[in-house]
Amino acid sequence: MNITISIIMFILGTIFGSFYNVIGYRIPKEESIVFPPSHCPNCNHRLKSYELIPVLSYLFQKGKCRSCQQKISLFYPIFELLTGTLFMLAYMSFGLNSNLIIALTFISLLIIITISDYNYMIIPDNVLIFFGIIILLEIGIIYGPSKVLISILNGTLSFIFMFTLKKLGDFIFKKESMGGGDIKLLFIFGMVLSFPIAILSIFVGSLIGLPLSLILVRKNSDHIIPFGPFLAAGAIILLLTKIDLTTIISFYNF
Ligand SMILES: [Zn+2]
Repeated sequence: MNITISIIMFILGTIFGSFYNVIGYRIPKEESIVFPPSHCPNCNHRLKSYELIPVLSYLFQKGKCRSCQQKISLFYPIFELLTGTLFMLAYMSFGLNSNLIIALTFISLLIIITISDYNYMIIPDNVLIFFGIIILLEIGIIYGPSKVLISILNGTLSFIFMFTLKKLGDFIFKKESMGGGDIKLLFIFGMVLSFPIAILSIFVGSLIGLPLSLILVRKNSDHIIPFGPFLAAGAIILLLTKIDLTTIISFYNF
């Protein structure tokens, strides 16, 4: 692990994170991600290049639009910092090799769907399809076509498991237990993490989500909590810790 590369990865992550904010906010509204250029949603003031520096612009402007003084959501710099941190951690975990490319693509998808699911309760199909294809291409180029088939098989199994879980949940709770986006997302989890780890990520995500959901539900009983961000958190933890089945089995040997 190299400190300079770690810092570069962090800065690169904040720049990508800034772009993912735009994608996560605009795609669910079916807006273009390039036009109109970044602007203040309150006064339409078009952001200059020095107002687009991740995190720093927010700090220099004290969290306000330079034109109309409207407060800028803290959400933007938080997700820039989060993407930067995850890019750096991915480098620390995988090193500079081809697996890092797949890990960064996967993290990018998870950041975007977290932003969009949190704000609009939507995991857009076109985002899933786009990243699904990119990841399969990367796997194909790095590992060859047979690994692509194995990935698709892992994805299908994970999808079927999640679909069954949803049907079971709908039956038990007598209402929609999770969204279609969550089920489709599991296809990509399976592709990247393998079937057993994808399933494990549902449980890790639920463990993180359960206490938070209970607090939120108590505050506002008809508030529906999106599951996508928790699934994403579970998947990222398993990705970065590189926990695999042999690790889990070895726990039992002690
Ligand atoms: Zn403004």
